Amino acid sequence: MSYDPANIFARILRGEIPAYVIEDTDHTLTFMDIMPKADGHALVIPKEGARNIFEISDEALQHVITQVKRVARAAQRAYPGKGIRVIQLNGSEAGQSVFHLHFHVIPSADGMNFGFHGGAAADEKSLKENAQRLKQALATLA
Ligand code: 5GP
Repeated sequence: MSYDPANIFARILRGEIPAYVIEDTDHTLTFMDIMPKADGHALVIPKEGARNIFEISDEALQHVITQVKRVARAAQRAYPGKGIRVIQLNGSEAGQSVFHLHFHVIPSADGMNFGFHGGAAADEKSLKENAQRLKQALATLA
């Protein structure tokens, strides 16, 4: 299967559908997951179109993982007392549901007791507040 430019994250990248964007860089976009597994659940994606970790160029992956680290640091600052989960799935067999490579960054406090999929969409107020909280923390990073 090849990369489908009609996937939902490609559409967010093109501005065709809205997202709570936290940071937009030359090579990456960071925005809130619409069905967060916890407050502050963010997604970091490359601007390069790639379905998974096997297909992305090494150069684009380096930009993404550097941004993941930056967002994880911001989450650590914005959600004191939480641990930060970084999750990335490849293939529907592994649970991937959107086929544009993405890393989940999730402030977490439930140890190993986590199920990954399922859950409801968050309300706009909550998404906006958590986006703002992460943005403020990003602004304090070097
Ligand atoms: P995956 O299972 O592929 O690793 O994760 C896909 C993620 O994308 C899920 O956590 C899901 O909640 C999120 N998601 C699905 N559709 C949308 C959307 O339209 N906007 C945003 N911001 N997130 C989405």
